[in-house]
Amino acid sequence: MSTKAKLARNIRPLAEYRNEAHRCIRCGMCRMTNPDFVASHKYSDNCPRGTRHMFESFFGSGIYEIARALTADPPELEINDRLKQIIWTCTTCGNCQDTCNAIKGLEPTNTMMALREFLIKQGVSPFKEHEGLIKSIINYDNPWLSPRTTRGKWARKLKDLEIKDASKEKVEVLYFPGCNASYVAEMNPVAEATAKILKLAGVDFGILGNNERCCGSTAFRVGAVNWFEDYKKKNIEQLNSLGIKTMVTACAGCHSTFSHSYAEDLDFEVVHIIEYVERMIKEGKLEFKNELGMKVTYHDPCHIGRYSGIYDPPRTVLQALPGVEFKEMERIRHYSWCCGSGGGVKPAYGDFALWTAHQRLEEAREVAGANTVVSCCPFCEINLGDAAKTVGMEVMDLLVLVDRALGD
Ligand code: SF4
Ligand code: SF4
Repeated sequence: MSTKAKLARNIRPLAEYRNEAHRCIRCGMCRMTNPDFVASHKYSDNCPRGTRHMFESFFGSGIYEIARALTADPPELEINDRLKQIIWTCTTCGNCQDTCNAIKGLEPTNTMMALREFLIKQGVSPFKEHEGLIKSIINYDNPWLSPRTTRGKWARKLKDLEIKDASKEKVEVLYFPGCNASYVAEMNPVAEATAKILKLAGVDFGILGNNERCCGSTAFRVGAVNWFEDYKKKNIEQLNSLGIKTMVTACAGCHSTFSHSYAEDLDFEVVHIIEYVERMIKEGKLEFKNELGMKVTYHDPCHIGRYSGIYDPPRTVLQALPGVEFKEMERIRHYSWCCGSGGGVKPAYGDFALWTAHQRLEEAREVAGANTVVSCCPFCEINLGDAAKTVGMEVMDLLVLVDRALGD
């Protein structure tokens, strides 16, 4: 059974998860990949923070025990820095929940989200790095302290494409690049490639440019849920006023946030660009001319994989690219190892995020024999990319490969 419909959707109050805590039988299944799918012991671990720290409290079962102890009357746990570390090193990757939900029907990842919300409501601050991200979204509508006036800069380089301004003229499809592809220089090529592909396929699309606002994902994942609920209202108002049929995004975080946390309030479909590219290939709208001559493996981002069940489209697209030799790693699809960046982990625990990424790169090289890891999420690509620089590997976005294979 897949938990995709349950991850991040309808996160309930912590008291409800507390009432389920007794159903955790300490079976330990949330510590490892489903045994039916394990190819080797070396790559059977599934939980980054548990594997790193090897204490019960860092695994899915520990989440339930912490939820129970914190909501006891009187509380049985002191809120200190160690507890904060346990709670905020979870990448919210959903791996424990995917396994546990299938056998016990429990939701350890959602319980972790409820724990964070519970603590923040009690005045327990997340880390200064998280506070900085939230303040930046309040002041600049992005987590990177970058001015609003530079959000659409990437598109100004592509004058020939005559990309429409969706806030001024009606378009069928809105391309929402998100904060990473808009502001982070090494991620700009993702936005550029996406726009070029949409143009080439003849899609009637536009962007919001400097009027685009953060989806709020980072704040939501660290637990600032009340704040997020308030912030998203303006986004809903703006996006619904555009009259679009479809929103496409090339960011797994934006996709997950819009399709789970906004979905009921939006008047249009939200599609990850790789699903859209798959559709366009099947409809004969994209024709590949260039041989790429590459050997690659694919990293499933948690937020389009476990959270949204998008496993086949990236693989179909990769296999359609001429001259690409594609080999899988061991931990794939539902059981993919997280990149280490999510849940606000990278800004607060950068070393741990990089350790997690290195585990993935080792698997890519050892199992798939690939020096190039392809993915579909700027968050994954930034973290895996930072680790890759130190071991002579490279990380690429699938859209950039699609653009190269299409040629000019
Ligand atoms: S959280 Fe689920 S998978 Fe983990 S020990 Fe408890 S029952 Fe088993
Ligand atoms: S969501 Fe991921 S990092 Fe968090 S406890 Fe579960 S498996 Fe571990």
